[in-house]
Amino acid sequence: MLSFLRTLLRERRSTSPFPGMVPPFPPRFRGRPAITRLTDGTRALPVVDLGACLFSPEETIRADGAELAFTPAIDMSARARPSLVTDTGRVAFGDALGERMRALLGRSLRLRSVVAGSCAGCEGELTALSNAVFDIARFGVQFVASPRHADGIVITGVVNRNMVGALERTYDAVPDPRLVIAVGACPASGGPFHGSPEIAGIPDAIPVDLWIPGCPPHPLTIMDGILRLLGRLGTGARAAADRAPGAGPST
Ligand code: SF4
Repeated sequence: MLSFLRTLLRERRSTSPFPGMVPPFPPRFRGRPAITRLTDGTRALPVVDLGACLFSPEETIRADGAELAFTPAIDMSARARPSLVTDTGRVAFGDALGERMRALLGRSLRLRSVVAGSCAGCEGELTALSNAVFDIARFGVQFVASPRHADGIVITGVVNRNMVGALERTYDAVPDPRLVIAVGACPASGGPFHGSPEIAGIPDAIPVDLWIPGCPPHPLTIMDGILRLLGRLGTGARAAADRAPGAGPST
């Protein structure tokens, strides 16, 4: 009991100050990449597809008159899949949900996780969202067991052929209006499993409202995307994200 109290006094508050500020990350952290032109030529910069990026050190490159390096910035989600393809590293998020959806879900969102052929890395980060450090419940976002109690689904994994039916049934069980959030490189591009004949991908009948890249994405990247979708992150929070040491400006 005494040591518990000592730990409490020492740590005081363990919950992340996000979105007020982005906590410092260790140097090995690889967040939103930045592509920098090395020459002043007129050649077009190479593009990077964040939906396919595995954020591995091998992807830090110098080629074609440009350099790609990872920054500590966490904001890189997008409403539209094509927005994840960028020649600067920055991503245009798009608009938050419309007024009606924000009135319905903006302060209380229940999500059902659908694991559709993943390595379990993304689920680990989703689970971390509910711990004392990230505590996404303070924003009214919670994960629930039944799709009938949910306002939307969170898809992780490539959506392999065996999981298509389960995904469709889960989506159908969520009452309208419903959200779809795709987390990680796997649903966006197949991730490290790209090219496998077992990949079916997200069916066209399931429209995705939010794409969160990463392999896996950091919990703050997931939280950032969800809060932007709900219109809960304003310019102040965005400025905080930009204050992360070494981060370039977001869009
Ligand atoms: S995106 Fe990466 S971490 Fe997430 S499920 Fe796929 S392989 Fe695993």
